[in-house]
Amino acid sequence: YEMSGRISSSLAQLTEEKSKLLEAVARLQELEQQQKQFIGNISHELKTPLTSILAYTDLLDMYRDDPGLLEEAGKQIGKEAERLYGLVEKALKLSSMDVYEFETHAKSVSLLPLLQEAADRLQAKAERHGVEMVSTLEEGSVWADPENLIHMVQNLLDNAIKYNKPGGKVLLSNEAVRDQDGQGWMNITVRDTGIGIPEEARAKIFDPFYTVSDDRSRAHGGTGLGLPLVKGLAEKQGGTVELAASGPEGSIFVITLPLQRPEHPETISAGNSP
Ligand code: ADP
Repeated sequence: YEMSGRISSSLAQLTEEKSKLLEAVARLQELEQQQKQFIGNISHELKTPLTSILAYTDLLDMYRDDPGLLEEAGKQIGKEAERLYGLVEKALKLSSMDVYEFETHAKSVSLLPLLQEAADRLQAKAERHGVEMVSTLEEGSVWADPENLIHMVQNLLDNAIKYNKPGGKVLLSNEAVRDQDGQGWMNITVRDTGIGIPEEARAKIFDPFYTVSDDRSRAHGGTGLGLPLVKGLAEKQGGTVELAASGPEGSIFVITLPLQRPEHPETISAGNSP
């Protein structure tokens, strides 16, 4: 009896190990699938602007004697090259996120100069789009990687400008809050008076390569990698990003980050914010 008891307990153990292994294999297959899809998507996205650049390069010769057409071709080539650059930059950042060690880059940082820096980097673009950018900022520190923080806010501001209306506004503000457990968080809010995000698209805007409509995004060199990047970076820092509201009068995005170093970093994850 003792022997058969031991055998059946080892069998149970084996069965458990087996199901764990199968689970791990399934997860790996899923990751592999995602990776393949990512590469497929990115190749497609790279091809579009490159095809345009090549087509305009061909035309340059024909346009040689027409300064107007030459200038137009030059502009288009520049625009497509900028799109390529943005795409490659975001893809590189997204793909390096898995090995990125937040702990080694995180520290207590003063928020004000970082938000100011993000706004400064977008000021020229706002002017080009005829959009007014207003910041209402408070002093305060957060536990974050300063470069990443600037990057996240920059991405939200960039969208708020791109998807705005002429004469529209972008408001950047921040506010420290406390949740029921007494933990302090910083909300960084980007509000715009833009075109809004249709209800059926709201759940998907944080998915890689998702764009609400090809023409609305492509017209601005959009790739659908901006918001996934913001989400990944926010979660790496023990925070979150969400679309707080959207409608015909505009959208509100909120990044929430811990004020201090999380005591138990492993327990901090998306969804713990207030
Ligand atoms: P993209 O490079 O296309 O801007 P994002 O990942 O940053 O990619 O955004 C995904 C989609 O969400 C965009 O294609 C755009 O349609 C929509 N979107 C993002 N931010 C805003 C905003 N502030 N107002 C309206 N639509 C937005």
